[in-house]
Amino acid sequence: MAQRVSVNDGAAGSKRTSRVRVAVRLRPYLDKQDEKGEGPCVRGLGPQKLEIINWRNATETLQYQFDVFHGEQTTQQEVFLTSVKPILPHILNGQNASVFAYGPTGAGKTHTMLGSQEQPGIIPRAVKEVFKLVDVQEKEQDGWEYSVGMSYLEIYNEKVLDLLSPGSQDLPIREDKDRNILIPGLTRTPLLSFTDFDTHFIPASLNRTTASTKINQRSSRSHAILLIKVVKSQRGPPHRQQTGKLYLVDLAGSEDNRRTGNQGIRLKESGAINLSLFTLSKVVDALNAGAGGRVPYRDSKLTRLLQDSLGGSAHSVMITNIAPEYRYYFDTFSALNFAAKSKQIVNRPFVRETVLAPTIAPLKRAREEQEAGGSGE
Ligand code: ADP
Ligand code: MG
Repeated sequence: MAQRVSVNDGAAGSKRTSRVRVAVRLRPYLDKQDEKGEGPCVRGLGPQKLEIINWRNATETLQYQFDVFHGEQTTQQEVFLTSVKPILPHILNGQNASVFAYGPTGAGKTHTMLGSQEQPGIIPRAVKEVFKLVDVQEKEQDGWEYSVGMSYLEIYNEKVLDLLSPGSQDLPIREDKDRNILIPGLTRTPLLSFTDFDTHFIPASLNRTTASTKINQRSSRSHAILLIKVVKSQRGPPHRQQTGKLYLVDLAGSEDNRRTGNQGIRLKESGAINLSLFTLSKVVDALNAGAGGRVPYRDSKLTRLLQDSLGGSAHSVMITNIAPEYRYYFDTFSALNFAAKSKQIVNRPFVRETVLAPTIAPLKRAREEQEAGGSGE
């Protein structure tokens, strides 16, 4: 049966509304010595948990739990295998999916999504995998043929810009009668192979990064959205068609720009970025609360665009990137509060242990003492 993918605008769709899986990735400590020389302020506690110093009370630690926690040793391959690969087969069955990197600038969003030549991230790995899955299907001669295409766009200051057609104007977002979201006029480049993708995507993504250093770190203020579309067509009558969409999104930095004292145009940008990110967090919260309440997709361009690929029958993963250095503390704290499934306050000082006892043994002793003494809530 030709499967239509659509999302109810919240109210009635509680049964079909799926959760957004939330993973947190902590990048390695990069500062040789941060300004206070205090070492990291966050550390992992196993495959789902981490702890961070409580700035309100240094005798306490805050522990958070997520669907998945990726510690600083986690490789690009592990992140891909755990968080992304399992959702890709759905794209070949007319379902939609989205993967986001969230977090403050400098915490590893681009590393996670794009990566480098030596350490390719989710984007190249996912595209490679999609072609692999298509090849397998085509070898099976199941009566369907597949075509893969890409679009690449940016939401900057609540404007939708085509990154494959430089100089393009703000594009409108529309919804068709089946509640599929589309952007008429957006460039769609057919892809025959992964090499094809590399040829078209790499220059466009480099464009964006180089321009960014000139224009007020634009890349940290805009959402970069790669769309991979797989159209599956029946070779014989009745020639049915199914379309699956995969959105791979490198979000704008989640840092609170009000604190950095931006003014004028920058302040306006911050407002717009905050609106999209703020709405995204409300959408994710509404989906994960699962009560069937209104999901505010229409409140920002980003969430409107992603409406048919976030929640509903779609498969979504949010990777929250965080950095261990103290100067990121407040941005880390707010990113964790957004991402966490649960949070617990534990009576155990984090700072003193880190500063006075940088070796493992005293940390272990402190943990044993705490375990012996039970944990305070
Ligand atoms: P963002 O896109 O969130 O601003 P980046 O991806 O540019 O952050 O990462 C900031 C810096 O940290 C870059 O130099 C990047 O190479 C490095 N980095 C990020 N994550 C990791 C990681 N997991 N392992 C090693 N280096 C990382
Ligand atoms: Mg980046």
